[in-house]
Amino acid sequence: MITVAGREFGVRSVNLFWATLIIVVVSMALLSGFLRPVSDALAGVRFRLTDREASQTLTVVEIDSRSLQAAGAWPWDRQRYATAIDNLVEAGATLVAFDVDFSAPSQTAADAELAAAVSRHPGQVVLANFLQKESYGSRDSAVGENTPIPSLRQDALLASVNVPVDVDGKVRSYDVTPSGASQPSLAAVVAGRSGGTSFDIDFGVDHRTISHLSFEDVLAGDFDRTLVSGRVVLIGATAVELGDEFATPAGLIPGVYIHGLAYESLIGGRALVGLHPGLLLALCLVVGALLLPRRDGGASLHRLVQVHALAAAAILIGPVVLQAVSPISLNPAPLMLTQLLFAIWGTRVELERRERAIVAEREAGLLHLAMHEPETELPNRRALLKIIGDTWAASSDAELAVITVGVERHAEMRGVVGYNVANAVLVQLAARLEAFGATGGVTQLSSSVLAFARTDLSATGLAELLTRLKGLETNFVVGDHSIDIFLRLGAALERGGQLESEALVERATAALNSARASDDRGVVYDDDGQGTPENNLALMSEMREAIAAGDISLHYQPKMSTADGVIRSVEALCRWRHAERGFVSPDLFIPIAEDTGQIRVLTEWSIAQALTDHAVLRLGGQDLVIALNISGRLLADQAFQARVLDMVGTSGAALCFEITETAVIQQPGLAKQALAAFRAAGIKISIDDYGSGLSSLSYLKMLNADELKIDRSLVVDALDSQRDRLILKSTVDLAHGLGMSVVAEGVETEELTSCLTLLGCDVIQGYWVSRPLPLAKLQSFVEHSRSALSESWPDHKADVVSLNPERSKQSLAL
Ligand code: C2E
Ligand code: CA
Ligand code: CA
Repeated sequence: MITVAGREFGVRSVNLFWATLIIVVVSMALLSGFLRPVSDALAGVRFRLTDREASQTLTVVEIDSRSLQAAGAWPWDRQRYATAIDNLVEAGATLVAFDVDFSAPSQTAADAELAAAVSRHPGQVVLANFLQKESYGSRDSAVGENTPIPSLRQDALLASVNVPVDVDGKVRSYDVTPSGASQPSLAAVVAGRSGGTSFDIDFGVDHRTISHLSFEDVLAGDFDRTLVSGRVVLIGATAVELGDEFATPAGLIPGVYIHGLAYESLIGGRALVGLHPGLLLALCLVVGALLLPRRDGGASLHRLVQVHALAAAAILIGPVVLQAVSPISLNPAPLMLTQLLFAIWGTRVELERRERAIVAEREAGLLHLAMHEPETELPNRRALLKIIGDTWAASSDAELAVITVGVERHAEMRGVVGYNVANAVLVQLAARLEAFGATGGVTQLSSSVLAFARTDLSATGLAELLTRLKGLETNFVVGDHSIDIFLRLGAALERGGQLESEALVERATAALNSARASDDRGVVYDDDGQGTPENNLALMSEMREAIAAGDISLHYQPKMSTADGVIRSVEALCRWRHAERGFVSPDLFIPIAEDTGQIRVLTEWSIAQALTDHAVLRLGGQDLVIALNISGRLLADQAFQARVLDMVGTSGAALCFEITETAVIQQPGLAKQALAAFRAAGIKISIDDYGSGLSSLSYLKMLNADELKIDRSLVVDALDSQRDRLILKSTVDLAHGLGMSVVAEGVETEELTSCLTLLGCDVIQGYWVSRPLPLAKLQSFVEHSRSALSESWPDHKADVVSLNPERSKQSLAL
């Protein structure tokens, strides 16, 4: 774009603008004579290249300095001309032409003798007419023609000897009949031409090849007659002192030779015609049109050079060839200037194009970085959001599903096989998922979650897709590793316009999370399951019925002792399998239950259930401590306290209450009193989620708790962060100092287990040991671990602690 006088012009008008500007500059340069030195230099080159010999039909008789010396006077006696005419005609000259001024009379006798000589050869002597301004100084002084005196004129032919001189003082052209002259010019007369106007003299003929004689020799009759016989003879001054020299493209040449060259041009068919300036400019336009820069990158710099080199060659050689084969003199200077300007313009355009291309490339690179995961080069979350946004922008009511695919125990796999292999597995998985019609490609949401969008899926179509995805081959071979992974699926379906792209991805992620939490292979998001405020309130009204109907149950997550690998306690976690909504996460319904007062009913049920299950376990020979989560809100509830003490007091079961640190900090007095009462009833006290909120060890002292559970958020980075390890170590030491045992929560990998063991944690809880299990599965797990894990634990622990990677490197079913 260019702005001229406040208007913006597009690419086309920019081209037009510059092209016009260039042509205007070239025209001005041409018409102002600015290009003349270049034109002359080039013309000189052309003349040299089209160089010819004179025709040898004309001889110049020079009034040279030798003749002047011999005569001893100037103007000399005209009788000398009479003798010369006689000698020349006698030697066979066809015409004797004078470039000498006879317009004024001299001595009467001499004039008479010359007149007699002319008359002896009527029509064979040509005398000169001069056009002359009557006064040099005055601007509009009339131009008059000086003709020879009448006595000489009688039997002579007359010819004009004026040559046109350009403003720079150079003679380039020749007039067949100068304007204002009564007769044609000398060369035209002796060549017998009268038609035509002006032409350029062919300086390609070297004037030194024109035969010449000294006037003195002619006068003495002492000359080579063959140079005269049958030829035209021109007589004129060449002596420097006579000042009859003219500047020409071929250097300084005496006037008589200029007439000679004009004669040679005429008889050789070489009266050169220059191109009319208008025509020349038209040619410039053609050159410009051919060299017009293209913005689309059609011309690389290399091509630009080629094209211009070709054009330059054509512009230089063309006129030479043209002049060699025809009498056309083409001045290439304006064409060259045109080309030069177009070359500059073309280069600028090309450089700008390159700059734009570089910027575009850089931007594309940045965009790629922004849209891809650096380690796998898979499109990332932003890319997925863009795919969704674009789909809905194209069709606002498109049905769009986002499917999330989570690799289970990914961190553990990565710990065993390394980052590169784990990433390669992810990339291969993405490739397999492509087969399921991903719109815009499979993307990576996190280190263990891939996702893709699908258009045109109904709810049943989505369910079918998930079923097919569940059948996906999950063995991957990377190098010598054969890796089996386990996938969980989440999905969310939405018709466009209603939802932000971000929200749809959130829903699909939430669905995946609930699949993970509920041990489902795949979960499709639905508002009821994951909760809108209204639905969630409705949920509470159903809680009692759910408890009665057995929809709410307890799962137990084992806690493993690091000293010997033995499971001595389990944490009871609520599970609600809703008849219509499917699995409902405790993270959803527990806070609502707390807010709506339902938590007491739920917790009392949990305790009762735990007591029942405890008895079942004990019957099976498994004496486990069952830990229960007790909401902070219940600590102040005296009725609840009484009820609990009543239930527990008689059972003799080993229970532990997990109470969050926040709950204690918010009501320290009440908490202290309640916890003391529970402890008195034989219930152990555990501080839950330590490190997730406002951690304050000063409260811990006051609480006399038995156990400190370090929150997953504090534990998860222990491997990577020296600082986290320091915090953990000092926390563990402090808790031990207060007589508490330390539990690390949410431990998913063997590496982390060993690290935490080294840091002094007494108990490990997390997926690495086991997911929360229903009672029956818990029983078999504990049974199995008693024989497998705890027996091999001393060795296994040694391996774990020494971080021996070889042990699990082969083929791991993860
Ligand atoms: P919490 O007490 O911190 O329970 C631990 C949570 O971490 C459980 O989630 C458990 O499934 C999960 N978890 C265990 N191991 C791992 C692991 O290795 N990795 C990861 N990422 N997570 C692990 P869940 O069952 O969804 O429970 C969430 C929260 O709901 C519990 O957090 C607890 O605060 C509350 N809750 C659950 N059941 C009850 C209950 O009966 N009563 C009360 N008051 N709260 C409960
Ligand atoms: Ca807990
Ligand atoms: Ca916890």
